[in-house]
Amino acid sequence: MIRKAPPTFLLQDDFYRKLEQFSSEVTDKGLALFENEFKNIDAFYQMACFDNTDRDDHQFRRTPRPLYLLEALAFQFYDQSCRESFNAAKNTFIILPQCLSLMQEKCKRKKTRFGKVCDRCVPNCQINKIMQIADRYGVAGYFSQRKLEEQLRRIQKKHQSLSVIGISCILTLASGMRTAGELGIPARGVFLNYTGCRHWSDAPFATETALDRVEKILVEKYGLSDSSA
Ligand code: SF4
Repeated sequence: MIRKAPPTFLLQDDFYRKLEQFSSEVTDKGLALFENEFKNIDAFYQMACFDNTDRDDHQFRRTPRPLYLLEALAFQFYDQSCRESFNAAKNTFIILPQCLSLMQEKCKRKKTRFGKVCDRCVPNCQINKIMQIADRYGVAGYFSQRKLEEQLRRIQKKHQSLSVIGISCILTLASGMRTAGELGIPARGVFLNYTGCRHWSDAPFATETALDRVEKILVEKYGLSDSSA
């Protein structure tokens, strides 16, 4: 007689009751904990819900506050669970958002087959600063492309043992890490400190991220570089 393999999970009758209770407790606790960080979301959400213009990103902008928390949590789980495999992979690259570029439309990034790269045109640009950190660890950085999966596949063809650091906003980082994970590329990430692109502002402006966290991830993997020792 062929024995059935034991199930990976087996839901009990009270599963949904427990899940609802857990979700409600986590949401209440999380929104209280991040009250300061998320305090402007509700006003933006209300405004976006009443916006009847013909823009193409209504759904994205109409994201309610609990979903920011959910995405932040998803990021944290992916980041933590990928840590070991990220550190074990030989090569690393960084995927950068356009909105970090100080010069915005006047950014002089150059096209390559793996994505555009920073031309280091101004010293105060956060992308330039990130690339100076990345240089110390022999890590490349590419601006993200709309079709992220295709971009990652192209980079993956060049390097077999690969890991990625994604830099992105709260609503998009976890999904990008998931895309990388599905291709077998362990991902870690750093959030933008705030948003500034066309989805959130009529006059887009350059955003910022935590440079020290980018470096901390690289130090954990490669050890201190000569110039930071
Ligand atoms: S330093 Fe790089 S990313 Fe920043 S504006 Fe210049 S080319 Fe663009």
